[in-house]
Amino acid sequence: MKLIVLDRDGVINQDSDAFVKSPDEWIALPGSLAAIARLSQAGYTVVVASNQSGVARGLFDMATLNAIHAKLHRELAQAGGAVDAIFLCPHGPDDGCACRKPLPGMYHDIARRYDIDLAGVPAVGDSLRDLQAAAAVGCTPWLVLTGNGGKTRQGELPPGTRVARDLSAVADALLQEA
Ligand SMILES: [Mg+2]
Ligand SMILES: [Zn+2]
Repeated sequence: MKLIVLDRDGVINQDSDAFVKSPDEWIALPGSLAAIARLSQAGYTVVVASNQSGVARGLFDMATLNAIHAKLHRELAQAGGAVDAIFLCPHGPDDGCACRKPLPGMYHDIARRYDIDLAGVPAVGDSLRDLQAAAAVGCTPWLVLTGNGGKTRQGELPPGTRVARDLSAVADALLQEA
């Protein structure tokens, strides 16, 4: 199977320093849903792995997060794409969980769920912790320059990180290389 792992905020939708706390605040980035649609149509199974510490911080609850993701799924379906599953870490930075990126817990869950080796699987993020979690399990980290990506690019990146303008450019590159 062809799998791709995406961060959510700053990759698929606009990020916010104040957190994305409601469906209304969830706003797709230009071209991101069309990019996922092209990946879906090319046979990719698209999954999301997202830190959502706003849950632990009490900024929104799981019901609201589900409503946000219902909007994501709905808009994506209208664009002709699909996300197979959304893995999330609802914990805060001090909770000591194994799933909050840069730890690779969600990626291990993904490998188990799909029963595949993640070596070389593209994993797209806009923050260093996305790239670090991806690299820890042998995924190929892709940095997009949307969201925090411009800032992240200034720092040191895990070896082998590929850089693309946005999710659309990642899809272009992957589909061209196929
Ligand atoms: Mg992000
Ligand atoms: Zn967690």
